[in-house]
Amino acid sequence: MEKVIHFRIRRQDGPDAPPYWEEFKIPYAPQHNVISALLYIREHPINTRGQRVAPVVWESNCMEEVCGACSMLVNGVPRQACAALVDTLTQPITLEPLTKFPVVRDLAVDRQRMFDALGRVKAWVPLDGTQDIHQHAPRISPVEQSLRYVFSRCMTCGCCMEVCPQYHDHSAFVGPAPLGQVFLHNSHPTGGFFKADRLHAIMGVGGIADCGNAQNCVKVCPKDIPLTTAIGALGRAATRQWLHDLFVR
Ligand code: SF4
Repeated sequence: MEKVIHFRIRRQDGPDAPPYWEEFKIPYAPQHNVISALLYIREHPINTRGQRVAPVVWESNCMEEVCGACSMLVNGVPRQACAALVDTLTQPITLEPLTKFPVVRDLAVDRQRMFDALGRVKAWVPLDGTQDIHQHAPRISPVEQSLRYVFSRCMTCGCCMEVCPQYHDHSAFVGPAPLGQVFLHNSHPTGGFFKADRLHAIMGVGGIADCGNAQNCVKVCPKDIPLTTAIGALGRAATRQWLHDLFVR
């Protein structure tokens, strides 16, 4: 009997359409990852009932776990489909869209809410006048660089947001990934000039106080970013900022 790879995919024809399950079996080939298998299904969109159906829609780009675009639930676990090797997965392999973001179609979701949160917490170093800023900024030691590099690897994939119980439709919580970026930019000598702005952004509704300390985020991050360390440090920094605002302003 021909060896096959069996997929069970949660599909949705549009943002407001009802979801449904569809199964596909494709010929086995060694070293498939989920994306290469989806590419095969796109070329041969025949389900297990022998019906030719609309090709499955998903989002992907770099194919090397750097862009964060192909996040989905693979056998119930949020991860990058490009890094999910078929040979390591239990079959049937279930693929579902992330649940914390609106479905665009099938496995493609709209992560705009997460990008908006990065804007809300000012996760950048302003470019205007950087020459002036740099004159006063200290050099960064290699040890500090390597610490911050870990946080700079965030690819806004949304896996940490997916498993955070505080991050959902009815919550204003910014979520763990933007908090990690606040930590990164506040610990940077140049970015730190705007530390108070970022702390104020996470001291109100939907900010750091909404973290419930579930610690799920740090367990699923594909980049091993120590998010809970950042959140703990930001909690202390926010308290210091609050005291500063109280007595110094
Ligand atoms: Fe993805 Fe990790 Fe960034 Fe969260 S912190 S968005 S899990 S890379």
